[in-house]
Amino acid sequence: MDKSSRLKVALQKSGRLTENSLDLLARCGLKYSRGKDQLMCYGENMPLDVLFVRDDDIPDLVQQDVCDLGIVGLNVIEEKRLSFQTRGVSPLFEQVMVLDYGKCRLSIAVPDGTEYKDASSLRGKRIATTYPNILARFLRERDVQAEVVTMSGAVEIAPRLGRADFICDLVSTGSTLIANHLSEAETVMESQAAIISTPVPVTMEKQEWIHRLTMRIDGVQQVKESKYIMLHAPREKLAEIRKLLPGSESPTIMPLDGAGDKVAVHAVCRENVFWETLEGLKGAGASAILVLPVEKMLA
Ligand code: ATP
Ligand code: MG
Repeated sequence: MDKSSRLKVALQKSGRLTENSLDLLARCGLKYSRGKDQLMCYGENMPLDVLFVRDDDIPDLVQQDVCDLGIVGLNVIEEKRLSFQTRGVSPLFEQVMVLDYGKCRLSIAVPDGTEYKDASSLRGKRIATTYPNILARFLRERDVQAEVVTMSGAVEIAPRLGRADFICDLVSTGSTLIANHLSEAETVMESQAAIISTPVPVTMEKQEWIHRLTMRIDGVQQVKESKYIMLHAPREKLAEIRKLLPGSESPTIMPLDGAGDKVAVHAVCRENVFWETLEGLKGAGASAILVLPVEKMLA
């Protein structure tokens, strides 16, 4: 297989998305070796290589067809999309699917003790951010005139330095805000990691691998929450017990040898199964309840 027929995937080199993204590819069955320069990983059992770059560069690399796929936060995707649109760049990259990690939100934060009612409180203020396009759209949609102060990092110290009144930055736990005496005031955008793909048509071979990869990712994401439940249930309680099984479609019902009034119920539950659920099932008459992890799933 020649080099051009191998899928090239851009991942963040070192940061919050790196470990989860590599782990995801490994769970999809990819075995890889890392290049000497640490800038690439070569897939050993799939025609797929990984290129490690700064997350801000990922949308450009994919838009320019240097990479076929990229994994990056929706916040970066949206900021780039708006900036490309403003500059008339086309065609844009495509968003393939969202992933279940990298969750955070882009929020307005104000110095502790500042009163904030709604976006109108931003009128005439200076707001520091690394997401000028998303913030400008937020202000425009609310008809608020304010000054957007674009920074490349360390936004949280802008109010203390007197560079801005408020900030618009990424938050997950909020501990960075607390450390800087800032309070979260309003969410501008929710974010999580996502996969984007090149706008340039790819070969049938690559298309096939992109399809296989997305199917496997879908399976990996589904099994994380899924459990296989097995239990014994009195026949007359079956309807009630089925209602208590979280996120399960058609369970398998089997007769139990020598116990005519009881059946075995097996079901894949696509939601997390908590102790409360098991206690509820037991209360409804179920016995011999077993909960097993699901390793792989292909819908
Ligand atoms: P790079 O050197 O690649 O440019 P970075 O400093 O821009 O790295 P990270 O801080 O590693 O980026 O964050 C990468 C992505 O992780 C963010 O764009 C966002 O989508 C997601 N993320 C999740 N939680 C947070 C958080 N609390 N703060 C910042 N980003 C977060
Ligand atoms: Mg970055």
